[in-house]
Amino acid sequence: MKEEFSKKPGLSVIWYVQKCGIEKIRERRRNEELAPRYRVHVNPEVCEDCGDCGVEAKCSSVWKVDTEFGPKVRIHQFSCIQDMACTKGDCPSYVKVYTRSGIPFKTPGLGKLQKPVSDLPKPFRRAATGKVYEVFSVGIGGWGLMTAYEILARAATREGRNIVKEDDTGLSQKGGEVRNNLKIAYPGQDLREGFKIEAGGADLYICSDLIGAVNPENLNAASPDKTRAIINTAKVPTMPMIVGKTEYPSVESLRGIIDSFTDADRNIYVNATDIVESLFMDHKPTNLFLLGIAFQSIENFPVDDPESIEEGIRKNNVQVEINLLAFRFGRLYAIDPERVFSLAFSKPQTLEERIRGFKRNLPFWQRVHFETLARKFPFESEFRSKFAREVYELFRFQNGNYAQQFVDFAEEIYRFDSACFPDRNLSFTRSVADHLYQLMTYKDEYRVADLLTRPEELERIFCMYAPGEIERIRFQLRPPIFEQIPLLRDWSYIRKRFEEDGKWEFPPWSLKLLRYFKFLRGTKLDVFHLFSDLRKHERKAIGLYRRRMLSLIPLLNEKNYHTACEAAAYPAKASGYELVKEIHTEQAESMWREKYQIMLQTFSAAPLKSTEAWTEKRTAEAFHTPG
Ligand code: SF4
Repeated sequence: MKEEFSKKPGLSVIWYVQKCGIEKIRERRRNEELAPRYRVHVNPEVCEDCGDCGVEAKCSSVWKVDTEFGPKVRIHQFSCIQDMACTKGDCPSYVKVYTRSGIPFKTPGLGKLQKPVSDLPKPFRRAATGKVYEVFSVGIGGWGLMTAYEILARAATREGRNIVKEDDTGLSQKGGEVRNNLKIAYPGQDLREGFKIEAGGADLYICSDLIGAVNPENLNAASPDKTRAIINTAKVPTMPMIVGKTEYPSVESLRGIIDSFTDADRNIYVNATDIVESLFMDHKPTNLFLLGIAFQSIENFPVDDPESIEEGIRKNNVQVEINLLAFRFGRLYAIDPERVFSLAFSKPQTLEERIRGFKRNLPFWQRVHFETLARKFPFESEFRSKFAREVYELFRFQNGNYAQQFVDFAEEIYRFDSACFPDRNLSFTRSVADHLYQLMTYKDEYRVADLLTRPEELERIFCMYAPGEIERIRFQLRPPIFEQIPLLRDWSYIRKRFEEDGKWEFPPWSLKLLRYFKFLRGTKLDVFHLFSDLRKHERKAIGLYRRRMLSLIPLLNEKNYHTACEAAAYPAKASGYELVKEIHTEQAESMWREKYQIMLQTFSAAPLKSTEAWTEKRTAEAFHTPG
């Protein structure tokens, strides 16, 4: 629209009227009749992190979640306005849940959360320093930052302090940055310097948004001599991240920036959003949780009595019980973080538990074979667990022979890697195993059907809903086969459907049935394979990858080892489905060519004796192998 108007002569005014997302959600909470009777979720096992849904939707509820196979999309249900914009792309990851009411989520079991925080010790306080205490806070619009610091300000005045406060709400529509400057003084102290906190003036730098926390404009308020930071490390993406223009920086690097501007030894970093969402099924108590940490852990915090803050929460009269608990859980976190983790999250499975679980899901005749393959290599424990999962998935994808092919190739690389580069923690082997696995479990129709209908994945969605709320679930798919088979493609019903939005809603039974036909995969009866160039390419890409990895071996040396690991990771670039995948495959190919060139250049510079010896030995073995 901007482009169109820029061509018109003279001044143009574009007046865009749309209700703010936060306002929409609030209205629906007050009147559930306004809320649509469906929600949409992404199945992270099917998601390829191609970024297409972010580009399509440009929506700040398209979040990422870190999984053992890299980041995947998750729709942040508590801020989603249900306009379905994210489902427009060509992606089968979406699960649509039809509900009976407009507010279908479970209410958290608050009763059982009362006990652990019922008798918290009062915090230790040092005598007042005689200085004004300055709190600079940063957060995200719609997350309750202003309310939290209004409550703190009222608590301070209840205890006889004087305050000045400035809210900077900026573009605080759904997802925008908001800030608050709060100065608290004891009676008789001078509060005339103004509302804004001066450069380096903050005693407490408390942020519920990590990206906002590293904004230089905000960090200007901090000083390494006196500022203590309490930071929420939840990765809430910004719009450039959602549309794939940039990636979320590593949390470690962001912490480094904050530490360099603050008193690093006394800072606290915690993924508060994960904790409160897990405990209270809502992200908004994040700020009160952080406030609870500050209240309990800072010795010169300018409010002494927890009741002062709790009274403010009651007077605010919104989600009182949850907000009180969030504040108390923040206090508990300052005393005993492990206790809070154990109450919020279930214990991660050990390797043995995981292997036992995988075995249970396989037919009994595959179990011994699976266990032998899963325990084949002495990787460090985290990768062992991932490798076991990869082997299990290959059994599910096809059968034991298929998994055996994967392990045999991994063994080939492992023998070379461990013999020639014993100090490199098997990084090359791990990179090859991960990406060969990715190629071997390409997401065709049978695979997607299996992943979408797994009970554990459905349970992950169901457990968010109140009992009896789910009416039915549907998988939103656009089967490429409808466009590939000429007779189907020309059928007017299908043509019309593609012209409208091109998606069908499939019930679970249809996909459960489809997954049993995986034995047809790649045969002459596999219609999905016969009519699709992409499927043919996906199958060929496996053999090509193996040949490419073997071609890297003679080129490897200490200097280019890291480049070889990167080169082995080129399939990760080829993410997505259909057209998106085709585009990304080209990018993956150019990445491979670029890395391979570097390998060739660095090889001639410094060949490694042990690599040559290994290659000669393997070549000799190959020539002496009968047949
Ligand atoms: S595969 Fe791509 S389009 Fe689908 S959910 Fe994941 S990131 Fe979004």
